[in-house]
Amino acid sequence: MAKRVLVSGGAGYIGSHVTVELINAGYEVVVADNMSNCDLTCFEGVKKITGKEDIPFEKMDCCDDAAVNALFSKYRIDAVIHFAAFKAVGESVAEPIKYYRNNLDSFLNILEAAKTHGGCNVLFSSSATVYGETDRLPVTEQSPRQPATSPYGNTKQICEDILRDVVKATASCDAMEPGTDRNGTVKGIALRYFNPIGAHPSALIGELPRGVPNNLVPFITQTAIGKRECLSIFGNDYPTPDGTCQRDYIDIVDLAKAHVAAVGRMLDGKMKESYEIFNVGTGRPVSVLELVNAFEKVNNLKLNYKFAPRRPGDVTAIWADPTLANRELGWKAGRSIEDTLAAAWAWEKHLAGK
Ligand code: UDP
Repeated sequence: MAKRVLVSGGAGYIGSHVTVELINAGYEVVVADNMSNCDLTCFEGVKKITGKEDIPFEKMDCCDDAAVNALFSKYRIDAVIHFAAFKAVGESVAEPIKYYRNNLDSFLNILEAAKTHGGCNVLFSSSATVYGETDRLPVTEQSPRQPATSPYGNTKQICEDILRDVVKATASCDAMEPGTDRNGTVKGIALRYFNPIGAHPSALIGELPRGVPNNLVPFITQTAIGKRECLSIFGNDYPTPDGTCQRDYIDIVDLAKAHVAAVGRMLDGKMKESYEIFNVGTGRPVSVLELVNAFEKVNNLKLNYKFAPRRPGDVTAIWADPTLANRELGWKAGRSIEDTLAAAWAWEKHLAGK
């Protein structure tokens, strides 16, 4: 029987791409989403791409513990991929209670249900923000975490720690109650994403930012289509080769495939520890200016941009050492930045009906 994966926040940007890849890999999927930051566009796109019309969808809030419990009673769930969280850094600074309440409560409810319903494998969507500013690049999973600079970033660190502690506690409970089939053990993987960008090559799913985008690529595509007047490049006086910040931009489909590999590792009993962490990046630094130039070149257009002051809170440069994920997950980022930026542009044009 196919294993079933619960994707919380599965109607969003990353969740919808992961749902596609899980279905393509033969998993049963249940999507749970409260639709607080998306509409049904991507979920409908997932159905079209996979040709699967009957993907179970539960409109629910993971902060509602009764609803999460009911979900685990309704379906036999072998693994959870938890995306259901707020993600705007600036908003988290202005509204910390909202962020802590939502991002921690929802994860705690998932973990509690995973434990009480017989045990489960839990994959948490963490972030490279946990590394903060560092001059020891690229970062490995052993690189120290830095104190978070926003409540959003802090929720990622706290959720990693919660998962680690829950895994540890259920492993010792496992030792006390041996022999049962599904005995409440929780195993966990945290994937630390670098900068996910792009869209599915079908242009049927992609990022749907609400209001003015905070992230670079949606701002670029919205400027190119004429929704925004001009891209501001935040800072050109950084100590980098061209003065603009460097990041590790990871294609969204590559990122989604890393989740499939991690879920397979958990379900096939291949984990070396009960709690594991993997960087999900390309290992390749790309500056803001390089990204803009690549976008212009591959899509054969000129982008209106200007240099602006640095954005508070931005780190100068960060990129991954993805060796561990390459080796242990058998996964490697494969798509070129050009293909990724072409897909991002195709998605923006799809949204504009062009
Ligand atoms: N950036 C920019 N203009 C924008 C948005 C972002 O120059 O309108 C830069 C930002 O300063 C950073 C990089 O693009 O160096 C990536 O920013 P993003 O917000 O996409 O991701 P972050 O790395 O902050 O998570």
